[in-house]
Amino acid sequence: MAAEVVVIGSGPGGAVTAMLCAEAGKSVLLVEEGKNLPLQWPAHFSSDEILHKYRNAGVSIAVGSPHIAYVEGRCVGGGSEINRGLYHRTPAYVLDQWRTEFNVRDLSLDILVPHFTACEEIARVEYLPGEASLLSMRLYEGASNLGWRVVEAPRLYRYAGGGSKQSMSETFVPRFLEAGGRLIADTSVRRLSRTGGKWRMEAKHASPEASSQAIEIFADKVFLACGAVQTPALLRRSGLRKNIGNSLRFHPMLKVVAEFDDDINVPGDFDPVHQVKEFEPHFGMGCSISNRPMLALAMATRADSFALVEHRWRRMGIYYVQTTGGCALVRNAAPFRDPFVRVWHSDYQLREYADGMKRLAEVLLAAGATAIYPTAPGYPVLRSMADVRKLPETLPRGSGNLTSVHIFSSCPMGENEALCATDSFGRVHGADGLYISDASLLCGPTAVNPQGTVMAIAHRNATRAIENGFH
Ligand SMILES: Cc1cc2nc3c(=O)[nH]c(=O)nc-3n(C[C@H](O)[C@H](O)[C@H](O)COP(=O)(O)OP(=O)(O)OC[C@H]3O[C@@H](n4cnc5c(N)ncnc54)[C@H](O)[C@@H]3O)c2cc1C
Repeated sequence: MAAEVVVIGSGPGGAVTAMLCAEAGKSVLLVEEGKNLPLQWPAHFSSDEILHKYRNAGVSIAVGSPHIAYVEGRCVGGGSEINRGLYHRTPAYVLDQWRTEFNVRDLSLDILVPHFTACEEIARVEYLPGEASLLSMRLYEGASNLGWRVVEAPRLYRYAGGGSKQSMSETFVPRFLEAGGRLIADTSVRRLSRTGGKWRMEAKHASPEASSQAIEIFADKVFLACGAVQTPALLRRSGLRKNIGNSLRFHPMLKVVAEFDDDINVPGDFDPVHQVKEFEPHFGMGCSISNRPMLALAMATRADSFALVEHRWRRMGIYYVQTTGGCALVRNAAPFRDPFVRVWHSDYQLREYADGMKRLAEVLLAAGATAIYPTAPGYPVLRSMADVRKLPETLPRGSGNLTSVHIFSSCPMGENEALCATDSFGRVHGADGLYISDASLLCGPTAVNPQGTVMAIAHRNATRAIENGFH
């Protein structure tokens, strides 16, 4: 199999890149490890969705004290298929910090605006047409009562006609195919090498039931877009290691279940959209999907969880505080297929997690919560600010239940040779014609939901590569 350009991974970074290259007239092959499934099947937030569209059925751990349980998409469209599509452009201060610390050329909000706009036109970004769900409004009211800054996040969503998500499989991938691009799903690239002036990729069918025969793919240019853990793992397997997989970052989350006096959890309501911005960039807060199975899972560390959820789920919602802590290494651990991820947290970050948890409890009490059940084991039920003040000043290292759905920064871009894996536009150092175009490139946490940043940076870099004739 051969193409001028091969893009590996079809999440937001890969799908944007593949579409631009195909529309520029290149012959492009998009290779995706996961299956090509419709956005509507399995149902969003169902257990079948977790089985079919999440890597390892949603169980991946960054080992540390505490661990972080993180989640990756594994299907055509990657994380965009399973996420909620809460959308933000990157804050200017985040880009300014990356430009200064990592010496990234041509990076500012002004420079990225045309790229945000171009992506937003294809993957539509909309605000709710009416009032938000009661779960969402409770957070809004609590923050307003305290005088804290709170916003409605727009979503990659089309609200008309009952509502539908705007994922890569609905937007960029169809345009890529219309432009003549070829997609092969259910195929995992295991290794890259350079031979005869071309890139050679060794790939295999990903499903156990499919043929185990090796597939060889050749290309002039390769864009890696396997996500922030799989991209460095593939590069390191292929012998490329400089500043690769040394700086994986997260948005670690701590969650609580809040119980109110009245029914706030109404099946069929639109997903919650309010976010508390008062403490950014240290931490932000929001409301998670709070259906009965998710509530049962969130309460699983409590002995009385089943009875509580069974009887009171209509009065309960799951809320989170999301920080920017943790830094991890990604390493291959032969003979295992999955890379090993090791995370460290500084004492400062542990204090920030604990502070975030207290602020989350404060806003929920101000919203009228009568009981708050932290999901971290060993934490007591909170019913008043007096209870909140008794919480530890720092998250105990042995305490678990940090989770993350936002991962990035394992191969940062920029001209700072001590830190960066690629140049300012995603070209891997010392590897002619090899680019990275996914969340790995981001120089650090975005503080806001990251998909908008991933798409805009991929759009900026692919546009530049095409304009420069890939030189
Ligand atoms: C549950 C969840 C909720 C989220 N919520 C939001 C949100 O509301 N808003 C927001 O902005 N962001 C959200 N995110 C984050 C967002 O989805 C990611 O930032 C984004 O998807 C990252 O894009 P990417 O292109 O870097 O990688 P990914 O989306 O991870 O795509 C990588 C793709 O590469 C494929 N792949 C990996 N290895 C190989 C290989 N060796 N060969 C072939 N293919 C390979 C994978 O199967 C995957 O499909 C969420 C993420 C998750 C998981």
